[in-house]
Amino acid sequence: MLPPELRREDGLDGLPEVSELDVVRHFTRLSQWNLSAATTLYPLGSCTMKYNPLANEVVARLSGFAGLHPLVPDQWAQGTLELMARLTQFLRDVSGMPEVTLQPAAGAHGELTGLKMVRAYHVDRGNPRRRVLIPESAHGTNPASAALCGYGVTEVPAGPAGMLEVETVKRMLDDDVAAMMITNPNTLGVFEQEIRGIAHALHAAGALLYCDGANMNALMGVAKPGDMGADVLQFNLHKTFSTPHGGGGPGSGPVAVSALLEPYLPAPRLVESDGAWRWSSDFPKAIGRVRSFHGNVGMLVRAYCYMRMLGGDGLTDATEKAVLNANYLRAHLSRSLPLAVATPSMHECVFSDKDLGETGVHTLDIAKRLLDYGFFAPTIYFPLVVPGAIMVEPTETESKQTLDEFVAAVEAIVAEAHADPAQVTQAPHGTFIGRLDETRAARRPVLRYRKPTAP
Ligand SMILES: *Cc1c(COP(=O)(O)O)cnc(C)c1O
Repeated sequence: MLPPELRREDGLDGLPEVSELDVVRHFTRLSQWNLSAATTLYPLGSCTMKYNPLANEVVARLSGFAGLHPLVPDQWAQGTLELMARLTQFLRDVSGMPEVTLQPAAGAHGELTGLKMVRAYHVDRGNPRRRVLIPESAHGTNPASAALCGYGVTEVPAGPAGMLEVETVKRMLDDDVAAMMITNPNTLGVFEQEIRGIAHALHAAGALLYCDGANMNALMGVAKPGDMGADVLQFNLHKTFSTPHGGGGPGSGPVAVSALLEPYLPAPRLVESDGAWRWSSDFPKAIGRVRSFHGNVGMLVRAYCYMRMLGGDGLTDATEKAVLNANYLRAHLSRSLPLAVATPSMHECVFSDKDLGETGVHTLDIAKRLLDYGFFAPTIYFPLVVPGAIMVEPTETESKQTLDEFVAAVEAIVAEAHADPAQVTQAPHGTFIGRLDETRAARRPVLRYRKPTAP
C-alpha cells in the first residue's frame, strides 16, 4: 500500500483507453517502422553494425549473471569475476598489450580514461605537457576527449594516399606533445602503414601513442596494436565484439595499456590470491574509478561469449571476411560512385557524390533513397575530409547475395539521379514518415506522450 501522502488526488483523465491487444499491435507496428540490422543490411560506416549472435543474449540473461547484485561480496561472485578475468586475458591477446581495464562504459569514455592515464604519466614525470596530435580525419570523439581532459588539439594532415606520414608528424613534435591519437585503420578505411615509424618518433620525443581501437574488426586475430607501438587503446565491445548498440543502450569500452601506463589503470582492479578473485584498491597511482561498480557487466558477458564461440581462428576469419566484404563493395560500387582515395581498404570504404554535380542529387538524397530500397543508409558526410562522403561498412556477417543486392540498389539510384532526379531528392517515398527536417528532428525531438489539451 502506498502511504497516503504519496497518492495522487486528481484523476488520470485524458490517458488513452486501450486494450492489451491494441497495445501489442501499437508497439509491434511501431517496431516495424524502423530499419535495423535484424531486418536489413545496415552499412553504417565506422559503426560495425554486424550481427550480434543471439546466443550472447541467452548467456547474458542467465540468472547467475543477470541477477547478481554489484555489491555482493567477492566470494559470492567468483563466476562473474572469473569471466571478467578471462575476458581481460582475451583482450590482452587481441591487443598485444599487457594490461586491460574493463570499467569504461563506451568508446568515448575509454578515450577519456586512456587520456587521463596519459596525463597522470606525464604529471609523474614532472611535465604534464599540453597538446595532443590528432589526424584531421579522426572520429569527433577524439578531439572532444582530448579537450575534456584539458589538452589542446593540433590537427595533423594526411598525405595524398589518405595516410599519415612520419615526416609530417616529426615536424609537429616537441616536449609539449603528450600523445598522438591515431585510428588504425583510419576513418577512410585505410591502414596507416607508417604507424611504427610514427610510434618510434613519438616515443623518441617522450610522447605516447593512443590507438583508437573502436574498429578492431579490421585487425583482430591478424595484427596487434601493441606490436605497432601503441601505449593505450580502447576497444568498443559494442562494435567489434558483437554486443548490441544503437538506441543509447549500454556499451563497453575496455582500455588496454602498455607497461608504462599500467600503474595508472583505474581501480579497483581484479587480483587473484589463494585461488580466488577479489577487487583490490591497493594501486596508489591509479587514476581512480571511472564507472560505478565494475562496468557494464552484461556487455562483458556477451563479448566473452562471442569470443569463446569464435575462438582465435574464428576471430581471424571474421576480420578477413570483414575486409573481403568491404573490398568487394569497393570494387563493385566504384563503378557508380567515385572513391575518396585509391589506396586499398580494410573493413570499410568511402565514396563521394562529386560526380553527381549537375543532377542536383547529393549524398543525403542517396542515403534517403536507399531506405526505399529496403537498406539502412551508410554513414554520410563523415569523415569530414571527404566532401559529400558516403562511408560503407558491410561487416563480415553479410552474404555475397546481400552485398550484390545493395550494389544493385546503389546503381539503380545513380541511374535515377540522371534520369529522374526528383525521385531521389524527394525520397524516401515508401517509409512511414517521409523526409524529416533533419535539424528539427535532432534539436526538438518529441519523445513524450502529452495529454492533449482542450481546444
Ligand atoms: C564509434 C567510434 C568511437 C566512439 O565510440 P562510442 O562508444 O560511440 O563512444 C570512437 N572512435 C571511433 C573510430 C569510432 O568508430
